[in-house]
Amino acid sequence: MVTILDKTFVPLISRSEIESRIAELATQISKDYEGRCPFFIVVLNGAFLFATELVKNIPLNCEISFVKLSSYAQTHSTGKVREIIGLEEKIAGRDVIIIEDIVDTGLTMAQLLTQVHAQLPQSVAVATLLHKPEALQTPVDLQYVGFEIQNRFVVGYGLDYDGIGRNLDALYVLA
Ligand code: 5GP
Repeated sequence: MVTILDKTFVPLISRSEIESRIAELATQISKDYEGRCPFFIVVLNGAFLFATELVKNIPLNCEISFVKLSSYAQTHSTGKVREIIGLEEKIAGRDVIIIEDIVDTGLTMAQLLTQVHAQLPQSVAVATLLHKPEALQTPVDLQYVGFEIQNRFVVGYGLDYDGIGRNLDALYVLA
C-alpha cells in the first residue's frame, strides 16, 4: 500500500510482472522490425520508464526521440491535446513506433497519430504499457499492449498522481 498526498493506492501489477511483459513486447518488436531501423517517439512524461525498459531489450539499430503532450487542464481532460515539446526530427519514410504509458480515452493517441501520419512515415505502430478498453472514446489501433486494465486510476512506473508517484517501480490502483 502507498499513500500519495490525500489518496491510498494498493498494488496492481508487480515490478517483475511488468518487466517480464515488457521483455515479451521487446522480443515481438525485435522480430517484427528485423532488418529495419525503427524511429521511436516516446510520449513524455509518463512513458519514460516503460520506454527505457523496452528499448534496452531491443537489439536493433534505432532512433529515439521525445514529444511532450498534455490533454489535462487541472483535473479533467479538455478533449484537446496541447503540444508542449514537439518533434524536431523528420520522420518521412521512417518506421515509427510511438511509446505511450497508457491509452485511456484515446484522445491523446488519436491526435498524435494524425500529426505523425501527416509527415508521411513508411509505417506507424503504437506500443502502450497500459490500456483501459472501457474508457476508449475514439478508435485507435494499438499494436503492442502491455496490460489491459479496468477503468480505474493507476499510479507508478511512470504514471503520477498530481505529479507524484512516477518513480514507483510497480503499478498501484486507487484503493
Ligand atoms: P487519454 O485519455 O488521452 O487516452 O490519456 C491521456 C493521458 O492521461 C495519459 O497519457 C496519461 O498521462 C493520463 N492518464 C490516463 N489514465 C490515467 C491513469 O489511470 N493514471 C494516471 N496517472 N494517468 C492517466
